[in-house]
Amino acid sequence: MLRAIFKLIWYIIWGLIIYKIFSKFSHKSNKKSNFNSKEAPVNERKVIKSKVYKDPICGTFVDPQISESFQLNGKVYYFCSKECKEKFIKEIDGK
Ligand SMILES: [Zn+2]
Repeated sequence: MLRAIFKLIWYIIWGLIIYKIFSKFSHKSNKKSNFNSKEAPVNERKVIKSKVYKDPICGTFVDPQISESFQLNGKVYYFCSKECKEKFIKEIDGK
């Protein structure tokens, strides 16, 4: 009988330890998912607000908010990198 009670207490202790570990993990993942869900709408708004432009050099679609830009004859061109922007400017100078 005493052994049975001891076993029960042992199981409860282990149960609590496992529960604590699991709750820690789930708490962490909840925090992460909350963080993501907070960030996601901002990104979605960015995508909705800002058009995606095609890099005329390499053909990559770029977000104008984070890309290199260059104005030519009132038109704005967007580039994935400085290298592409420089290539574009060189091409214009060449012509
Ligand atoms: Zn590019």
